[in-house]
Amino acid sequence: MINRRDFLKLAACLGASLPIAGFPSAVKAALKTIDPKSVPKLIYLQAQSCTGCSVSLLQAEAPGAVSMITQYSKLVYHQDLSAASGKQVLDLMNAYISGNAGDYFLAVEGSIPLGMPDACVIGGKPIADYLSAAARTMSGAVAIGTCSSYGGIPAAEGNLTGAVSLNDFYKAINKKPLLISIPGCPVHPDWVWKTIVHLVKIGLPELTDTRPAAFFSRKVHELCPRYHDFQQEIFAEKLGDQGCLFKIGCLGPDTFADCPTRWWNSGQTWCIDANAPCIGCASPMFARKKDFPFYRNAEIVIPGIPGEKS
Ligand code: SF4
Ligand code: SF4
Repeated sequence: MINRRDFLKLAACLGASLPIAGFPSAVKAALKTIDPKSVPKLIYLQAQSCTGCSVSLLQAEAPGAVSMITQYSKLVYHQDLSAASGKQVLDLMNAYISGNAGDYFLAVEGSIPLGMPDACVIGGKPIADYLSAAARTMSGAVAIGTCSSYGGIPAAEGNLTGAVSLNDFYKAINKKPLLISIPGCPVHPDWVWKTIVHLVKIGLPELTDTRPAAFFSRKVHELCPRYHDFQQEIFAEKLGDQGCLFKIGCLGPDTFADCPTRWWNSGQTWCIDANAPCIGCASPMFARKKDFPFYRNAEIVIPGIPGEKS
């Protein structure tokens, strides 16, 4: 006998495997046509980031991360993953960014310190210099995660570095490269790898503003398995309760992402399945204002814990 949780999980897996606007099936077909001898080159830069998106990308499966960066693309540069180091790897990266080594796509994780360029340097040079040079030479750029897509935590109110998204950085220097934003804190590996394969093998995917529409055209709230509870006004009063999490701060109604059908951690769970409200990590407003709930002290509501609210 299948229980409710297993049923929801099964439904989510089936939902994630269904083509959304033709995107996943097109990507699957594209993967079969990739010629290992002429795979796209990828340069991955980390700006003001915590490296969480890179860690999340390593959780990719079918194909896994190793296949993605060796068989289906060639990772030319990544601060954590490059086998080469020091001058050798910087020269290699510069041969693409500032030279004419060939076609490549740029992936950028983290926000750009527009007001304080020295806050983020690679090989002694501000990342802004590399990004500016790349605007001339790259085939396109992908902003990885919420910091790169919208500013995120480094761009929170009161930050000293003038942190901006990749899109806003290019607007500030009057450049208009092909750019796709893939938010999420961290980003989901499917959102990134499927977008990159689409971009290099099929072309620009359908976008909603600068995000891939296949993943970001519907709200978490619309797809949520607890939407029925919301309609019936069955609300959780505290963490761990059953029911819609709206009254304990769920931001699913304001957040565009397909987490309820895609799930996380290889389809094991996702925020609301784990009884945690959606904190809007893929939304432009995530962690920007100092009164955003993310920064508030936890309101302790567990009976018996000191500080419990009465
Ligand atoms: S738990 Fe959140 S996303 Fe789900 S129905 Fe309630 S408010 Fe919407
Ligand atoms: S459910 Fe919300 S907080 Fe959780 S990963 Fe998706 S967008 Fe982010």
